Amino acid sequence: MSHLHLITTTQRPAAPMVSGRGSWLADADGRRYLDFVQGWAVNSLGHSPPAVAAAIARQAGELLCPSPSFHNRPLLDLATALCRITTLDRAFVGTSGAEAVEVAIKLARTWGARRRGGAWRIVTMHGSYHGRTLAAMSASGKPGWEELFEPKVPGFDKVPPDDPAAVARAIGPDTAAVMLEPVLGEGGVIPFSDGSLRAIRAITREAGVLLIHDEIQTGIGRTGRFLAGDHAGVRPDILTLGKGLGGGVPISAVLSDESVAACVEPGEQGGTFTGHPLGCAAALAVLDAVLAPGFLGRVEAAGARLRAGLERISIRHGLGAVRGRGLLCALDLGAPDAPRVVEAARAGGLLLNAPRPHLIRCMPALTVSDAEIDQALALLDAACSVRPAMAAAV
Ligand SMILES: *Cc1c(COP(=O)(O)O)cnc(C)c1O
Repeated sequence: MSHLHLITTTQRPAAPMVSGRGSWLADADGRRYLDFVQGWAVNSLGHSPPAVAAAIARQAGELLCPSPSFHNRPLLDLATALCRITTLDRAFVGTSGAEAVEVAIKLARTWGARRRGGAWRIVTMHGSYHGRTLAAMSASGKPGWEELFEPKVPGFDKVPPDDPAAVARAIGPDTAAVMLEPVLGEGGVIPFSDGSLRAIRAITREAGVLLIHDEIQTGIGRTGRFLAGDHAGVRPDILTLGKGLGGGVPISAVLSDESVAACVEPGEQGGTFTGHPLGCAAALAVLDAVLAPGFLGRVEAAGARLRAGLERISIRHGLGAVRGRGLLCALDLGAPDAPRVVEAARAGGLLLNAPRPHLIRCMPALTVSDAEIDQALALLDAACSVRPAMAAAV
């Protein structure tokens, strides 16, 4: 086993991860970790959930890939379920979040070309994250990406998040859509207020442009409702889902209003693995669990417990604010110590991540237990205790 043949796109610990169950992950050296990253909010039901494992095993034995030229049963069932839950009308199923964002951008441009006199520009947010294809990177407002892979895809106008007036000012005759994450995830767990989400819905409707919610990180129950937009009662015209949708299996989806879907002609969008039965079977198992009575209420309660614990740690160590919703929460350290705290926590057996240099983010399994939350808080508290000493050593 060697990493020397991998293109080094990221720094990783030497020991590979070899097994996982629920909130726990184990590496090849036999170390166990309490996982509060969960594949970047991917494993909604924890590691290797039996229901997902059974669903994909069953599907693999039945039909793996009929080709995107044919319907398959899990695809039809998933599209039906997602439209019912979100009240949107049509679905497209892909494999990665960035692909879903690409499709959302293309839907907006198609709609703009055919229904709004050639409008093609999209208003997005400073600090936003929409993925790593060239168009998704261009749409993103991630600091440090401005110079990468130039020239970017044109047509994205950036405004500050949670600022409806700035959105209103940025909309012009060439604008086809506004795209936002209801809680900016990679950008630092920055929530839009419910009032702002409703105001932007009203502004986009008034201006006659589309509203795209990128809920790849916030969807599938992460914030305690099925969608983060549900807290505000906002229905976008286009919605992207990914990450938690497949419970660990790569799948993404774009949902849209009929008025948008009706602009698309056959042949304009596709892809070899679109609508893949394996991902759809996994997603159906995830939806079964997440929509079971009591599940989302439990996410809300677990999130409140986690946030209360983070507040106590913040007060004890003199740190900054706690932000987030449901089981997407973050602790601002008030100083760029996050990489060191993440490293100290990992050494102690807790996996966290640092989307920004001053910010610790928690995205545990939606099935995390109170005992696991308390254990994670104790491990984070210990990691924060070593912080000043480690900072001094640098
Ligand atoms: C992760 C993420 C993406 C990109 O998803 P990938 O599966 O990594 O391509 C897009 N938008 C948001 C909000 C995300 O959090």
